[in-house]
This record gives sequence, structure tokens and C-alpha cells, in this order.
Amino acid sequence: MRREDRGMRPRPPTRVIPPTRALLKTRVNPRALVPTRVILLTAALVSAACILPAFARGRDDNRPASAAPSLSVLAPQSAYPGDCAVVILEYGDGRSSSEATGETRVEAALRDETGATRARAAAFALDGSRREAAILALPPGMTPGNYRLIVASVSADGTVILSDTPCAVEAREFVSETVRLDAANTAIKKDASAERMAQIEELNGILFRQDAGAVRFAGPYAAPLQSSRRTSQYGERRTYAYSNGSAERTTHLGIDFGIPTGSPVYAAGDGRVVLAKSRVTTGWTVVIEHFPGVYSLYYHLDSLSCGAGETVRTGTLIGKSGSTGLSTGPHLHWEFRVNGEAVSPDWFVGRVLF
Ligand SMILES: [Zn+2]
Repeated sequence: MRREDRGMRPRPPTRVIPPTRALLKTRVNPRALVPTRVILLTAALVSAACILPAFARGRDDNRPASAAPSLSVLAPQSAYPGDCAVVILEYGDGRSSSEATGETRVEAALRDETGATRARAAAFALDGSRREAAILALPPGMTPGNYRLIVASVSADGTVILSDTPCAVEAREFVSETVRLDAANTAIKKDASAERMAQIEELNGILFRQDAGAVRFAGPYAAPLQSSRRTSQYGERRTYAYSNGSAERTTHLGIDFGIPTGSPVYAAGDGRVVLAKSRVTTGWTVVIEHFPGVYSLYYHLDSLSCGAGETVRTGTLIGKSGSTGLSTGPHLHWEFRVNGEAVSPDWFVGRVLF
């Protein structure tokens, strides 16, 4: 995947209403996750009704105020650039999440010390609508430091903070490499044909799509092959040296496994194949949707064993490795995207998301 394949993530405007302290009661868990119990007390709900119209306006108008919804928010205390931060919301009072939020949208965001949002994700419902989850993708170039993880209910008339907790983004080193491209690969990289542009647009259209109904596979995820021979790592700062003497700096967005052409490649998790075709840059390509906004990608295959629309399981043979597209030798490029952002595939291996 090339850098130009990445589009701009839509950033809906939000208005933030500062949290009412009486509504937030936090206890710290010594483990990595910090559960934040947000209890909307009766008195607080009444007094805050003017700023929390979404909560005060439940579907059941006859519901007594004493049965106001309670909500647990699980959010990580720290994360690394290139990894994900999973936020889980659990509604514990018998109401579904959509009722509790007055049919508003719930978002999680990481804000730096200037208040700027550096990562953002919309929540989607798990197991019916009692729990919701948001998967924040931290870009590999994210600056380490002190951030705040904000979970907010976004309604048409403003944004209400549900929880606001510290989250440290740790330092992470990425190596550098130079990849020399011959004339044929340089031509692929410089290809500005309508065909290639349409393919980039098509793939971005898939990767930035968050289909709330695509709750398919929580894990554990698996590596797509048995080889451990890696020729490039995720997040490497890569310099392309072109055959005409020019150069371009970019970031390698997946893992390259150096394996012989014809090696079997398996699905990393249950999901639905949403793209299976030949592309100019990535050769024979498979993209699998695992969760709303969560996709695994497989590039430079020699042949495919699956088609778009098919359902696959972890370990399903999806193709054979090769060297098609922009490639300097037989290898598999394996990538994960979350809401359009490329994140470390290693973060997913062996992991159960929820
Ligand atoms: Zn690669």
C-alpha cells in the first residue's frame, strides 16, 4: 500500500460541553484497563437535564428518574503508535445503548495536550446493543506524550462527555530502509493512469467504510502463513530510490514476508472478502472485512482462491503468494487497516478484541 492510497479521514465538527463532575465517578484498576463507572444519579440527572437533553429524553417517557441509565467505559491507560486502543461501553441498567444515548452517536477520541484530536473512532454495537465498542487506530507517526482519551455522546445539538481519562502514548522506534526500484517498478510507482487512480479510489472507499452491521470476528487473529522470515517490518521509514535517480520517502504500512512464489496464504480471521482482484500497484489482492472499519489486506499474490462476497474463516486458504504488482521479489505484503489507518498486524495476532 502506498502512502497516496491513504485518504483524509472525515472529521465531523463537534461541540464539546464540559462534563459535569457530579456525573463522573472514576475508580482506577491496577490492570491496563481503567474502568470508569459513569453513574447518572437521579439528582444529577435532574439538575443536568438542561445540558444533557439526550439522556433526559429517553424513549420511555414514563420511566422513573430513579431508573436512569448507568454506563461503564473501559479504556486503555497507554498505547503505542501503530497499535489500536479498544474502548468498550457497557450499559448496565437494562436499557439498550441507543436508548441510553437518545439515539445519538458515541465516539472515542485521543486528544493531545493542545486539545487537538489525533485519533478518532465511532462506536458500534456489540452483541445486540447492550455493549458498544470503538477501535481507535494510532498512526505510526504519532508523537509520544500525554493524551486524553475522550468518550463522547455526539448529538445533533452538541456533544456530551461520557468519560475523560489520561492515556499515555509511548515512544516506539521504527527502522529505516532504502528500496531501489528498477525501471519497471518505477513505472508502476509513477503510474498516474485512470485505471490506477480508480483502483486507489475504490480501495479507499472500502477501507474508510464502517459498516455497523459487519460485526464478524472478535478474535483471536492469526498470522496468514507459517513463515517467520520478514523482509520489511510495519512502520519502516522507507525511501524509494527510483531508476531515474530521484527518491521519495514514505512509510511501509504492512509486514513483508519473504516467501517463495506459490506459498499458501490464509485468512487472518473470520470475515467477508470485500475485494479480490488484480491491481496495478498491489498485484493480485485480497481484502477481508472483520469488523466495522477493520480490514486485513494481502498483496502481490500469484493466484487467488477466494472471490469477493465470500465468507472465510481463520485459516481459510485465500490464495498463493507471488510477486505481482510493485514488487522486487516474491513476498507477501500483509496489512491491517482500522478506519482507514494502517496499524501493526502484530497487534492483532493472538488477540481477542472484546
Ligand atoms: Zn510491503
